[in-house]
Amino acid sequence: WRSNAHWPEALPERPLKPSYDAVIVGAGGHGLAAAWYLASQHGMTNIAVVDKGWLGGGNVARNTTIVRSNYFHPARRAMTNRALELWRGLSQELNYNVMFSPRGIINLAHSSSQMDDLARRGNAMMVDGVGAELLSVEDIRRRVPILDTDPQARHPIVGGMVQHEAGTARHDAVAWGYARAAMALGVDIFQNCEVTGIETREGRVESVNTGRGRIATPRLALCAAGGTSHLARMVGLTMPLENHLLQACVTEPVKPVLDCIVTHGVHNFYISQTDKGELVLGGDIDGYNNATSVGDPRTFEEIARVCLSLFPGFEQLRVMRTWGGVVDMSMDGSPILSHTSIDGLYVNAGWCYGGFKATPAAGEVLAAMIATDTTPSLAAEFGLDRFTTGAVVSEEGHGPRPW
Ligand code: FAD
Repeated sequence: WRSNAHWPEALPERPLKPSYDAVIVGAGGHGLAAAWYLASQHGMTNIAVVDKGWLGGGNVARNTTIVRSNYFHPARRAMTNRALELWRGLSQELNYNVMFSPRGIINLAHSSSQMDDLARRGNAMMVDGVGAELLSVEDIRRRVPILDTDPQARHPIVGGMVQHEAGTARHDAVAWGYARAAMALGVDIFQNCEVTGIETREGRVESVNTGRGRIATPRLALCAAGGTSHLARMVGLTMPLENHLLQACVTEPVKPVLDCIVTHGVHNFYISQTDKGELVLGGDIDGYNNATSVGDPRTFEEIARVCLSLFPGFEQLRVMRTWGGVVDMSMDGSPILSHTSIDGLYVNAGWCYGGFKATPAAGEVLAAMIATDTTPSLAAEFGLDRFTTGAVVSEEGHGPRPW
């Protein structure tokens, strides 16, 4: 006897139709969000989302869940500010608790030039009405007492900046929330359904070939993160992307010790604590191209080393799990949300190590692009053509690289 024997399937299988008004490749956060906004904002419900793996098996549920909008570049800030607006109401909108927790993010500074950069970034944020506050070492000591703020520390802290409205969200809930809400409006989602070919006729998308058969469609959106270059090659496009592995880990759970996110740009280290008590640690990408999810142990060692230099009190903690995700690194570090030279083919990629935070806005913008075949203003600077015109969107040089 099983008490759950009559529960409905969480993700019921529906038959694959021979044609859809739009097909989205990738049941990650961005693909599922786009499907939801297509259905809820544009009334397009004859949509299929296909994934070669399982729902939320990609980076959407491998990331470290940081949500923020503390960018210097106006286009990045606009996109992530819109996302923050949507994050605030997302649980209600989807009727699914995505556990958005605006607990604040502190970027540490270790030199006066880093403080200058943070001040400049904070000022830019405030111009847009986004709260930012510079912190002294004393402020940081009060807010994060477990951090080593001793001037003799391995990485002496001279100050920092906080975005109070930033936070975290429950990543797999985001995938499931969008998926269930989209399905309720009629969207079909297919797992274990790899796209193996894309057919075009006279410069237009005509169909996709999948492991489950051919689907005719006039609109195809690639939301495949690390799978984007491979898919684009199917129609002869070369993407300005490189695949790298990004690793993270969680420690065993402990009592609450850290009530905000802390980032340390010198070594691209960041840390937060989950509601269960685990510390979530992340670091830099592995320094070479990789399309597997097996990480380099040296990168992981570096994460642990930097963590202990900032938080010596965590020395006795055991790491429970490590994992990696293949991130699609663009040449300027900014996303691609774009039409392509093939009519009806749209690309949402290049989110590097920072696409989770943008999920709701990226989905909303992509949905508008697909539905109207125009470029929404938030996507205006993220076109593919910037890599030929040189109008790149770069945060580089604008202070310690946050995560
Ligand atoms: P994914 O979930 O990867 O979705 C892409 C999907 O496409 C996959 O499910 C894949 O199976 C499918 N696919 C690929 N090829 C095919 C094909 N041929 N046919 C069918 N399906 C295909 N971002 C933040 O904002 N904050 C963070 O704190 C953060 N931390 C991160 C930490 C780690 C360790 C990693 C790996 C990433 C992190 N990111 C973070 C980045 C963020 O996770 C990604 O930018 C974002 O999730 C990408 O969008 P997505 O959710 O749609 O991708």
